Amino acid sequence: FISVIVDRSAMAKIFQMADASNLVTELRRNFDAGVTRGYEWRVTQLKKLLVICDKHEPEIVSALHDDLGKPELESSVYEVALLRNSIKLALKQLKDWMAPHKAKTSLTTFPASAKIVSEPLGVVLVISAWNFPFMLSIDPVIGAISAGNVVVLKPSELAPASSSLLAKLLKQYLDPSAVRVVEGAVTETTLLLEQKWDKIFYTGNSRIGRIIMTAAAKHLTPVSLELGGKSPVVIDSDTNLKVITVRRIISGKWGCNNGQACISPDYILTTKEYAPKVIDALKKELEAFYGNNPMGSKDTSRIVNLNHFDRLSKMLEEKEVSNKIVYGGQKNRENLKISPTVLLDVPLDSLIMSEEIFGPLLPIVTLNNLEECFGVINSRPKPLAAYLFTKNHKLKKKFTKTVSAGGIVVNDTAVHFTLPTLPFGGVGESGIGSYHGKFSFDAFSHKKSVLFKSFLGDSAIRYPPYSRRKLGL
Ligand code: NAD
Repeated sequence: FISVIVDRSAMAKIFQMADASNLVTELRRNFDAGVTRGYEWRVTQLKKLLVICDKHEPEIVSALHDDLGKPELESSVYEVALLRNSIKLALKQLKDWMAPHKAKTSLTTFPASAKIVSEPLGVVLVISAWNFPFMLSIDPVIGAISAGNVVVLKPSELAPASSSLLAKLLKQYLDPSAVRVVEGAVTETTLLLEQKWDKIFYTGNSRIGRIIMTAAAKHLTPVSLELGGKSPVVIDSDTNLKVITVRRIISGKWGCNNGQACISPDYILTTKEYAPKVIDALKKELEAFYGNNPMGSKDTSRIVNLNHFDRLSKMLEEKEVSNKIVYGGQKNRENLKISPTVLLDVPLDSLIMSEEIFGPLLPIVTLNNLEECFGVINSRPKPLAAYLFTKNHKLKKKFTKTVSAGGIVVNDTAVHFTLPTLPFGGVGESGIGSYHGKFSFDAFSHKKSVLFKSFLGDSAIRYPPYSRRKLGL
């Protein structure tokens, strides 16, 4: 009976300012003592993360199902397998990443040698979002550990089962003197943000991104902001529509957490003439994938919570929008399901075309000719991703040159996220900084310039009294 009371009071313990400050002080002490600097420590922690993925996949899949109704395969692939790859890559390349790089010297510094040394930033904070709660939490932690930092992870409160599993597993496996998880919502995050960090890595929406950056500015703390935006998909009529284009759009939209993904296709741009063919193909493939009762399909996630469900409903029910549904439109507030929904020519100033959708609704905007797509995309805030489907090489070239986005994929959607050789991040409103693979290591490192001068070759020219004569002028 007594132990129950003790446990309850422990659970009820509120995270306060002193806790946040003590946490950072303790971790800073451990960082300063060099706990995290060595190669061996980093490798040991990364291997433990691999054990978490290997041994606890069923628990992870189950937590994701509780939080989002995520299909098992989606969880296994997008959250666990991708993390496994990310850890394995870090383990394989860490020595190279950590090694100093020689830099060229010049006549002015001759004789000398120079190198670039990657040093850990120190005590870093990772704040993650709910939509891919494991991936978006552990992937930055891989970068932080690889680079030799101590790290505090604050998972999203909107995915509570995943948050508490992350707290449990990281505590069980990783070195508690250097890696901690603080669970909580706005209050806890605000207390953490009051502290002085050496880096804040935030994933989430741009409104909170501004709060993070403001807090960071107080201590001149560098930030990575992994934000979102409205990622367009341009479909040219010269494409492989049925077999490739619409399947790949469906996979990146409804097959990635039911549209609740930062690089999810947000809207389609195509010509008036071609739109009916696109709609037709989308209908056919959606029905082939999710059947004629998509609300009953187990192959799409549900909406994360009532707030987001109501936000999406509001978009859908707006005047001049609800009558533009050409496919789907079913929703159920009880089980938070919304069916794959396609809309045609909604007003450009409607909610659905002004805000990031982050859900299973996909508007199609029609153009008189495809060239107009550049005006539409470039007149809006820079998106996290931009997609183009075409066989036309000239168009591919123009698109990659003219469109500014975090990343561009030609003839597919979302898959660039899986390629660790590409930096993943936004530009403008869609974010600051990037990560994945070596870019994660760099995001949590300072590139220190080190120049070794010789005592030889000292020239009188640089010392006073200055004289043109010394220069031979
Ligand atoms: P969210 O609600 O989980 O919030 C993100 C984090 O911010 C959470 O940890 C939360 O506790 C914290 N937070 C919330 N309010 C806060 C406040 N007032 N002060 C300090 N911290 C606060 O996630 P979200 O914002 O709904 O996530 C969706 C957004 O994130 C979309 O815009 C999406 O595009 C973007 N996103 C981007 C990426 C990427 O890699 N670029 C990945 C996933 C999501």
